[in-house]
Amino acid sequence: MLKICDGYYQDNLVNYECVRCSKSFIVGEELVKDCSTGSPTCPYCGCGSEYVVKRSYTEDEQLEGMGLGCVGIYLEKEEPASPFKVMEDVDGVWEV
Ligand SMILES: [Zn+2]
Repeated sequence: MLKICDGYYQDNLVNYECVRCSKSFIVGEELVKDCSTGSPTCPYCGCGSEYVVKRSYTEDEQLEGMGLGCVGIYLEKEEPASPFKVMEDVDGVWEV
């Protein structure tokens, strides 16, 4: 997942092929990350993930050089909480 700006990322692409209907499709890595079976179901014939095989995928370094523009898959995601607390000056006293 490639960071574009705060809270906005370009997702890695994963190419799957359905061995039942022989069609392939591309989805974002983050989208399928939480699939309980590890793979999505086929969007064409609807067969279960046991027929869907991962064929190829991108990594962050590749995304940078591909220049996918509007063809890429993008997502908004909350930034992980900072381990550092922000201090601010409140009436001359620094508070967390
Ligand atoms: Zn299929």
